Amino acid sequence: MPRRKLPYKACTKCKMLVDDKTEVCPNCGNREFSYEWDGLIIIVKPENSEVARLMGISKEGLYAIKVR
Ligand SMILES: [Zn+2]
Repeated sequence: MPRRKLPYKACTKCKMLVDDKTEVCPNCGNREFSYEWDGLIIIVKPENSEVARLMGISKEGLYAIKVR
């Protein structure tokens, strides 16, 4: 299954991936994270990205496709 080697956790609200030590999501300010995530997309220019708009992403970064 997924690659658990990556030291990332996913924001349960906006799905942004942050490293283990981050306590507040830099994208939406949420403080809840999940290690049960799957899939990975990189948003480079959220202002030009349809995907970013659909997912409500306004900040560039790594995002999980699915968060449980
Ligand atoms: Zn977030």
